[in-house]
Amino acid sequence: MRVHNFNAGPAALPLPVLERVQVELPDLHHTGMSVMEWSHRSKQFENVNQGAEDGLKRLLGLNDDWTVLFLQGGASLQFSMVPMNVLQNGAKADYLVHGAWGRKAIAEAKKEGAARIAASSESANWKRVPLASEFDLDSAAKYVHFTSNETIEGVQWPTEPETNGVPLVCDASSDILSRPINVEKYGLIYGGAQKNIGPSGVTVVAIRRDWIEPLPQIPTMLAYATHAKEHSLYNTPPTFGIYMIGLVCEWIESLGGVAGMQARNTAKANALYAQIDSSGFYTGFADKENRSQMNITFRLPSEELGAQFATEATKAGFIGLKGHRSVGGLRASLYNAVELESVEALTAFMREFERTHG
Ligand SMILES: *Cc1c(COP(=O)(O)O)cnc(C)c1O
Repeated sequence: MRVHNFNAGPAALPLPVLERVQVELPDLHHTGMSVMEWSHRSKQFENVNQGAEDGLKRLLGLNDDWTVLFLQGGASLQFSMVPMNVLQNGAKADYLVHGAWGRKAIAEAKKEGAARIAASSESANWKRVPLASEFDLDSAAKYVHFTSNETIEGVQWPTEPETNGVPLVCDASSDILSRPINVEKYGLIYGGAQKNIGPSGVTVVAIRRDWIEPLPQIPTMLAYATHAKEHSLYNTPPTFGIYMIGLVCEWIESLGGVAGMQARNTAKANALYAQIDSSGFYTGFADKENRSQMNITFRLPSEELGAQFATEATKAGFIGLKGHRSVGGLRASLYNAVELESVEALTAFMREFERTHG
């Protein structure tokens, strides 16, 4: 039996994709092997690799000025790889920081180059994104880095920040493919796959080709040029994860692409926020204008009631609702694969919990 999965990451995957994998696993495309048993140098795997890249490019709206890399090390390694590769010859970068992942990104970037915080929402306790009036942007910066959705706090940029033409670099780990983006504004988009696009173990980096330079002085494995030249096949890639990404892309396209995902995601988030807002019992963490459609963070009147809520919810088949230890409270992650029925079941559980404990 499937549970209502609100895990923050690794997270819910689309059931039709899991069922397809189950069928295809022992004998993929009449090879008599699973994808995990194929050589990554085989023609068959090349097709899978290409299919996953094409799917992501179609969904993200990337033309051939872009390439997509499948790497390892998670979004966390990209905190270092981005500045290591892009901040050459004294180039500078601005970081907009509104939560825990953005703080990690800037901390690593400072080790690699001239990166600084151009705005932060620390004074607002990370409950919103920085306001345009708080931006201190350097027009000579090579890029402006932002975290499109802060997974732990549940605070999301409503649209891209305005940078007066300086290209954006985005950690999109927890909302990639959840809504359309304005691709012209970006130079690089990265994310771990395990929230919205596949299993853990594969990291997606979409990068403008003109940002890729040969950098013989940095470790070979950490240079984008290495992986771009070899089509992510310089060394053994996470083949199963790449195969899954291709299937998830097909599933998203069958539901109307990222616009279809956005409609589903808005309906789910609205249903949960409406439940929170209609009660004096539950309180949302984020400021309303910047609430996340992916990670809905809320509290109960006390931490004890919150803990009791999480325990009883688990017993009732609602998984992963305990908030991150740094923020406390509860968090429901409503990534692309989470169905509206799960959210409706959760809101019914919340009403009943409030009735019996409120
Ligand atoms: C989960 C997450 C990360 C960390 O990803 P790893 O793949 O575990 O390194 C980074 N940024 C954001 C926004 C995340 O949600």
